[in-house]
Amino acid sequence: MTSSLNPDSDSIRLGIDLGGTKTEIIALDHQGQTLLRQRTSTPSHSEHDTPEKNYQAIINNMVAMVQQVQQQLTIQDYTLGIGIPGAISLATGRVKNANTTCLIGNDLQGDIEHALQHKVVIANDADCFALSEATDGAAAGKPSVFAVIIGTGCGGGWVINGGLVSGPNAIAGEWGHNPLLWRDEQDTQIDCYCGQQGCLETLLSGPGMRQQARYETGVDQATEDWFAAYQQGDTQARQVIERYHRRLAKALAGVINTLDPHAIVLGGGVSNLDSIYQQVPQLWEEYVFSDTVTTPLLKAKYGDSSGVRGAAWLGSAIK
Ligand SMILES: [Zn+2]
Repeated sequence: MTSSLNPDSDSIRLGIDLGGTKTEIIALDHQGQTLLRQRTSTPSHSEHDTPEKNYQAIINNMVAMVQQVQQQLTIQDYTLGIGIPGAISLATGRVKNANTTCLIGNDLQGDIEHALQHKVVIANDADCFALSEATDGAAAGKPSVFAVIIGTGCGGGWVINGGLVSGPNAIAGEWGHNPLLWRDEQDTQIDCYCGQQGCLETLLSGPGMRQQARYETGVDQATEDWFAAYQQGDTQARQVIERYHRRLAKALAGVINTLDPHAIVLGGGVSNLDSIYQQVPQLWEEYVFSDTVTTPLLKAKYGDSSGVRGAAWLGSAIK
């Protein structure tokens, strides 16, 4: 699968970010300028609905959003990409690993293409984030980019020469379900929903960081409160955040040792902790198998918009 800025194509890129609660659509021109952006609530499952009805309502909602944008912009020629909170199984072509569970097992691509009579490309939302940041975001122009959203989870994506790498199992970038390397005694080994113990996600995600900090200090507070206390010079928060920096450095050193990407981009709530960008590259030198490490660690340029923008670039892959 490839997707890149293509100045020869003047068709409008539509992207949809299908979230658990909100569905967003964006229209980009070929230079990445936003022409239009709209948001609706994702139809949710009510007690009177069957999962099939809920699924159909989600399809109908996305189709209506596309048709409305077509009318507003008076366009016929467009590409369409959709980012979903899950993945498409290469074995079956159907949705797997989605937390919007009514999607699971359905032929989302086929059903939308049938309803719109138009081609669609679908990818995981973290892959869309990576594609956005590699195309015209923080890592624009870098030959290879590893990008990860550290928020409620730890989902990543891997882009080479402007094209998403999916892999034969459709899991490239699923770094959050590796264990922490060079583990210290105080690093917890708790159960992850994936069935393993001690996954990076259980230590580095927002909820993981909060839980680990509670384990270390006995204090239970939101990650934002730890960040604020750290910035105010609180001693306990400094220890918590410094340990967090080191865990993230170890985890990313493992990525550098494996892929040696030209840039690493961070998104999600934890990426707002500004100290990461200075501290982590100093710490990872200890773990990367190289005399010097020049890999830039970058904050996402488009933040929460990267999911929907990446979905729009995804559609450019359709020929
Ligand atoms: Zn896991």
